[in-house]
Amino acid sequence: MADVSERYEDNAPGKHYIDKTCAFCSVCIDEAPDNIKESDDGDHCIVFKQASNDAEAESLKNAIDACPTGSIGDDGE
Ligand code: SF4
Repeated sequence: MADVSERYEDNAPGKHYIDKTCAFCSVCIDEAPDNIKESDDGDHCIVFKQASNDAEAESLKNAIDACPTGSIGDDGE
């Protein structure tokens, strides 16, 4: 389970985020390409845009389920 206190600073503000346990496998980008991308640093993924509709919210839920390290959270602010 992701830890909001360990979220990367370059996530977009809001409920969804990726924390520092991210193994940079990119599975989540396949699930939610409209919301998750590679960081500018090129060593982790970030939520660059929070969900703005039901389809994006569902995609982010799928990304949470698919992440092998449990690094995506939905309890941010
Ligand atoms: S699926 Fe999880 S471990 Fe893989 S890049 Fe995304 S957040 Fe990181």
